[in-house]
Amino acid sequence: MIHNIRNIINPVLTLLYPKRCVACDKVLLKIEKEAGLCRECLKKVKLVGPSYCMTCGTPIANDAKELCGNCEKINHIFIQNRAIFQYTGDMKKAMYRFKYSNKRCYGKVFAMYANRYYGRWIRENKIDAIVPVPMYKKKEKCRGYNQAAVFAKEISALTGIPVADEIVRRDSDTVAMKRLNSLKRKKNLLKAFSLQKNVVQFRKVLIVDDIYTTGTTMDEVAKVLKSGGVKELFGMCVCIGEMQ
Ligand SMILES: [Zn+2]
Ligand SMILES: [Zn+2]
Repeated sequence: MIHNIRNIINPVLTLLYPKRCVACDKVLLKIEKEAGLCRECLKKVKLVGPSYCMTCGTPIANDAKELCGNCEKINHIFIQNRAIFQYTGDMKKAMYRFKYSNKRCYGKVFAMYANRYYGRWIRENKIDAIVPVPMYKKKEKCRGYNQAAVFAKEISALTGIPVADEIVRRDSDTVAMKRLNSLKRKKNLLKAFSLQKNVVQFRKVLIVDDIYTTGTTMDEVAKVLKSGGVKELFGMCVCIGEMQ
């Protein structure tokens, strides 16, 4: 019986705004709830922009430059990626809780900011579907949810663009990626993803993830989707590396 009740309550709970500040975890005042951040963190948290790399979305100090150092060297498979926060300070802890501590409610706040800063960009690019970067199934079962899928679902709720989370599958459990350098990361990701359909009907897809580091993961998912016929790939992440 208790089990049943939990099943009914859980989906509803994920629709609520967090009661605590997403960044510092302090209880929010009523007027702060909609922002998802307390007054102090609202000032403290580092957003991306106003100057960022036109390709990957990493904030850049020199706004005369169009691309970051990385994108000057690499040709990404995705066209453009955008991110909301710089992955630093309390946002690092926030991402940890979003991933490991069942803070699915953060998804709503992140999607609200994604829509505020990049809603126009999403509309202008005429995105047909949102694909969250998949998690290895066993891992997802163990952890209970895929945070990228949670973020995708909330963006979908705000934009009306459907989530297509069954198209790409993660076939291997990649080792904790942050410990690997770029080359190893790439090798590790080779054939990590596969297409679950012969043909994908969508022309333009937004790939969604929690953290953007080198863009390798996004490129690999983009590659798989391209092989299924998707023409243009875009990306959206909650956090991205600090200013270059
Ligand atoms: Zn706070
Ligand atoms: Zn870049």
